[in-house]
Amino acid sequence: MGQAKQKKQAGARISWCRTCTYCCVLPKIVALDKPMYRRCKHIENQGCGIFGQPERPSACISYNCAYLSARLAESPDRNRIPHPLEAGAYFHRDPIEKAVVLFVDPDRPDLWKASAIPDLMRNVVRGRETLVIFDRGHQMTVTNVEQLDAIVTRDFVAFAEGQGRQPDFPEFREWAQPDTETT
Ligand code: SF4
Ligand code: SF4
Repeated sequence: MGQAKQKKQAGARISWCRTCTYCCVLPKIVALDKPMYRRCKHIENQGCGIFGQPERPSACISYNCAYLSARLAESPDRNRIPHPLEAGAYFHRDPIEKAVVLFVDPDRPDLWKASAIPDLMRNVVRGRETLVIFDRGHQMTVTNVEQLDAIVTRDFVAFAEGQGRQPDFPEFREWAQPDTETT
């Protein structure tokens, strides 16, 4: 996961990830005992400090977000899926949960709504796949276009918090108040 990923051939270190580290920060990574919304301790210089080393978890080695997968496979989607840093979000297909999972950058939560991602996600739910969105500590499950359009139109996280609803993932509080982190 994360870090500048190399493009196929050894020696051809072409990074599609650029300085993105979203997938090393936002999700939970069991193999690293890393909770959601916490930077992996191995991030160095906006890349993986243990890239190519045996202690790098297999989950990291095998992970590609949808953007990177499309680039590496040279699929037609590669020109439709925006770079995560430009969209402020990234997504992947979860074959076990049979869902598409979208992680939103908490520091730029509206950016993805102006990108190509909403249209891509409309196709997901029209195709009867479930969409799961993680946004600022909240999880939203989307099964139809109407729900998705409501989320794109309104800031449901701000609305939920305005109603006093706590984040689904308490770890997010450390993101919002990083100076309170004690571990
Ligand atoms: S989210 Fe995608 S582009 Fe960003 S570091 Fe992970 S694999 Fe690379
Ligand atoms: S070990 Fe490397 S690739 Fe895996 S989450 Fe940490 S920095 Fe990212």
